[in-house]
Amino acid sequence: DPILAARGLVKSYGASPALRGVTLDVAAGEIVAVTGPSGCGKSTLLHCLAGILRPDAGEVTYRDQRVDLLAEAARSRLRRSEFGVLFQFGQLVAELTAAENVALPLLLAGTRRPAARTAALTWLDRLGVADLAGKRPGEMSGGQQQRVALGRALVTEPRVLFADEPTGALDTLAGEQVMGHLVRLARAQDTTVVLVTHEPRIAGYADRELVMRDGEIVTAAMAAAR
Ligand code: ADP
Ligand code: ADP
Repeated sequence: DPILAARGLVKSYGASPALRGVTLDVAAGEIVAVTGPSGCGKSTLLHCLAGILRPDAGEVTYRDQRVDLLAEAARSRLRRSEFGVLFQFGQLVAELTAAENVALPLLLAGTRRPAARTAALTWLDRLGVADLAGKRPGEMSGGQQQRVALGRALVTEPRVLFADEPTGALDTLAGEQVMGHLVRLARAQDTTVVLVTHEPRIAGYADRELVMRDGEIVTAAMAAAR
């Protein structure tokens, strides 16, 4: 059974359709890349799958739950407990240190401060940025900030990680480092990944590539070997 499925997703902003009937299945533990040109609907699809946006029509199923039918409070709870999100850039809290940023989702979930701090330091270490624990985002490079953001997305050990252009603001080397960590850590804890990117090189990290055009999936291609 797929862990995540979409059936006939339709979503419009005013009169202009962003999704025109998207159907897909994602298997547990799979890393799927959604690619296609700017404006084809990738972000809208990701936001519908992650329960951030509600589709106008169609179904999103996570395990046995119809995500599209949940009220906002329940979708928010699902996102906090089962999903992790990683966006393009600038999502860290500027006033908090790296360790505090990574600990934040655990504190919001009710974990006590010492345990949250220990977990945050463990994740920073796994991401090769343990030395940044006491630094604020403004003192880090873009690649370092994205590694900290990845730690914040993974610290709750989500079943599914949604990543929207996670390397889009980074240079080639920093992007490859972030993707290397993302894939390694997702595999290590069997986290399913849905990744949106317009860069073929980044899609090459996935097990499978779904290509979109004008609000539809046009081809499903196997990416290069793992
Ligand atoms: P992609 O991620 O592939 O760049 P998006 O899902 O962001 O595509 O956008 C798909 C289409 O929907 C585009 O035409 C875009 O301009 C439009 N769109 C996206 N978000 C909004 C919004 N909040 N309001 C109006 N139009 C939007
Ligand atoms: P895009 O992916 O098109 O660049 P944004 O990243 O600006 O768009 O965010 C699009 C939507 O996702 C907005 O509705 C925003 O509120 C929501 N969003 C952005 N960041 C987060 C986050 N860290 N957690 C939950 N929702 C978010």
